[in-house]
Amino acid sequence: MFDLQGRVAIVTGASRGIGRAIAVTLARQGAWVGVNYARNAQAAEETLAAMRAAGGDGELLPFDVSDSAAVTEAVDGLAARRGGLHIAVANAGIAVDGLLLRMKDDDLARTFATNVNGALYLARASVRLMMKAKWGRFLAVSSVVGQTGNVGQTAYAASKAALEGAARSIAREYASRNITANVIAPGFIDTDMTAALPDAMRSKILEGVPLGRLGSAEDVAAAALYLASNEAGYVTGQVLNVNGGLYV
Ligand code: NAP
Repeated sequence: MFDLQGRVAIVTGASRGIGRAIAVTLARQGAWVGVNYARNAQAAEETLAAMRAAGGDGELLPFDVSDSAAVTEAVDGLAARRGGLHIAVANAGIAVDGLLLRMKDDDLARTFATNVNGALYLARASVRLMMKAKWGRFLAVSSVVGQTGNVGQTAYAASKAALEGAARSIAREYASRNITANVIAPGFIDTDMTAALPDAMRSKILEGVPLGRLGSAEDVAAAALYLASNEAGYVTGQVLNVNGGLYV
């Protein structure tokens, strides 16, 4: 089950956290994985080493997901070297937190450029190649706060909610080409992004999580593996919540 031998995948924001866990998991199952990152080359090397330690392999793909031309060039290059592209995971994301009334135009622009435009550039570049392969899996990593909203996260929540509409549209548009598009909505996951939370806020969040713990990046990667697999071929346009029951 969940055999990805012969598949070529790309995971954005795979140098750390959730993206790293997804890259390692897909590689372990046999996919060749393009490991995208923005700046942190050493962390990306560690992802590649972990993929190899898990018996898989892949390559590093440094680019900024908000740079349309760079995304297309990287995706096309990967497909040209490996003979196609089958799985694309739009995971790279940033959270620029702050109350709405203090939000700068640039905070909003940066959030959408990375979280929304970045995902759509990846989808556009990769769906074209998935059509050639007559098989494709597009996944976007959103967030529980795109569903619930959160104080201080208006821009972030809006950007994550946007991914759900995008995935539903891509699902409808390319279903006839054997391409699925789904969203994974993590709750609070133990990564660099949440490490910055003050202890008091952490405890408060945990009170609202029925399963009583923060999620791990591997919890999210397991969902990504399922949605990227052959076995999920009849699942499209869906949001899979990986949130410990925080939002049901
Ligand atoms: P993280 O630890 O902060 O890692 C972010 C990753 O995204 C890094 O690999 C980073 O690359 C990359 N990245 C950021 N901006 C980029 C850009 N413009 N172009 C290419 N790569 C870029 O994040 P995480 O916690 O693993 O979160 C991953 C995704 O899950 C995000 O979309 C986030 O919104 C979502 N999410 C996270 C949580 C959570 O609790 N952690 C909850 C819900 C949703 P560098 O290393 O090069 O900087």
